[in-house]
Amino acid sequence: IRQLPGDSRSDRERRQVAAAWSPVSPEPVPDPRLLAVSRELAGQLGLDPEVMGRQRFAEVFAGNALVPGMQPWAANYGGHQFGHWAGQLGDGRAISLGELLAADGSRHELQLKGAGPTPYSRGADGRAVLRSSLREFVCSEAMHHLGIPTTRALSLVGTGEQVVRDMFYDGHPAPEPGAVVCRVSPSFIRFGSFELPAARGDSGLLGRLVEFTIDRDFPGHDASDEAGRARWFAEVCRRTGVLMAHWMRVGFVHGVMNTDNMSILGLTIDYGPYGWLDDFDPDFTPNTTDAQHRRYRYSAQPEIAWWNLGRLAGALSGLFSSQAPLEAGLQAYVSAFHEAQARMLAAKLGLDPGVGGNGVEEGQDTAIGLARELFALMHADGVDMTLAFRLLAQVDPDAPDPGVLAEAFYDPGKLEEGRSRWVDWLSRLASCWRRQALPEPDRVSLMRRSNPRYVFRNYLAQQAIDALEQGDDTVLADLMRVLAAPYEDHPGLEQLASRRPEWARQRAGCSM
Ligand code: AMP
Ligand code: MG
Ligand code: MG
Repeated sequence: IRQLPGDSRSDRERRQVAAAWSPVSPEPVPDPRLLAVSRELAGQLGLDPEVMGRQRFAEVFAGNALVPGMQPWAANYGGHQFGHWAGQLGDGRAISLGELLAADGSRHELQLKGAGPTPYSRGADGRAVLRSSLREFVCSEAMHHLGIPTTRALSLVGTGEQVVRDMFYDGHPAPEPGAVVCRVSPSFIRFGSFELPAARGDSGLLGRLVEFTIDRDFPGHDASDEAGRARWFAEVCRRTGVLMAHWMRVGFVHGVMNTDNMSILGLTIDYGPYGWLDDFDPDFTPNTTDAQHRRYRYSAQPEIAWWNLGRLAGALSGLFSSQAPLEAGLQAYVSAFHEAQARMLAAKLGLDPGVGGNGVEEGQDTAIGLARELFALMHADGVDMTLAFRLLAQVDPDAPDPGVLAEAFYDPGKLEEGRSRWVDWLSRLASCWRRQALPEPDRVSLMRRSNPRYVFRNYLAQQAIDALEQGDDTVLADLMRVLAAPYEDHPGLEQLASRRPEWARQRAGCSM
């Protein structure tokens, strides 16, 4: 691990944006133990725990030891939470260790979550529990392997310390094991990083932060004039639109889409009370603190992202002489989302994009139309989203039979009740398959590449956490194995693709 050489740009510019961060030291933990590591990422970064020594690795990525060249800092940002400006928020429990230049030339910021308080902790302890850390560690990697833009996670280290959070036993807060995740991203800058200086009227800092972000993280973009900044904002909007289409295609619900949890790079960031749809329900939110208004429910995510981009646009407006470029950016969000959504849904249904777009004749079904009807059917009949899409590839185009989807029904009675509607829908899908040019093996392979078999369902997280708390890391290891190749079949590990068991029904998620 080293800094960028000499009087490098990133070092110099960090100093320029000094008021956007503070130097801070991680607080050592009593007994760091390496619980899990992402092999693929460790390899890419050249940080192999077997080479470094497992204990040394655990000490560095718990925050107990710094490698020469590390100069840790915490960033300063604000944000809109649940629709309201909340002022300065963080980083309250995230400490960046430095930037690493990998052998392939890529640059990565390494950040510890849960390594102790920072000047932005607002009185809280800066710690994280194993439960939420494991959820972040596993889900970041799962999202990456699903092909969804995300921050990564290198390691999960147990601290040997008990932390008190929101789990209660007999009415009393119950201590839980603590942990530190090392997350990895080119940047952890959020929409809220820009909102804070804007809200404080600090246009100098805001301008420098925009310049820094564009120069460091948006190659090919130019911060020096308004046209360049407009193109950059449109690019942020475009990436956010693609990200929303991805979340929607796999049934991922972030749960806390506050503007401080929106990455300027269009990455999934800050895995808290996220969840995955089991039985399809557009109103699902895993966030128990949002159970009443459901602001961050599955179906609302694309619109919430647009609202959040509006807050970012507002923060940036002082850097533009008119609103027009910002409005154009927001429009670019809408187009990018719809374009990506149409493409992704067509692929999930095994339809070549032409069928969903220009190639459609009057009166014919479109991919989008068919997908909407499928969502309505799944919702009405309590059907598992992931399993249903995955099983569609097995439907016989010449004799469409909903029995193929039986495994996806939470209530087998619904399959019988709804049979004729499902037969009708499947027949229309099959007739699109026949009409298009895509050969059958290519169609099946497109569907398998677009519909994961394995997603990180909440009950799987719970099983892995329970086992790990008992010292058994095999459940986590199996999970990591299937989630590293979620579009493949894994003989012997089929049970990790099962629909949510009855015992997990009421345990929708958690707040943290
Ligand atoms: P979140 O809702 O998890 O996105 O967190 C909002 C802000 O509160 C972030 O800046 C977090 O770093 C901070 N925060 C959350 N939990 C803690 C904690 N245990 N100690 C210090 N800061 C925290
Ligand atoms: Mg956050
Ligand atoms: Mg959180």
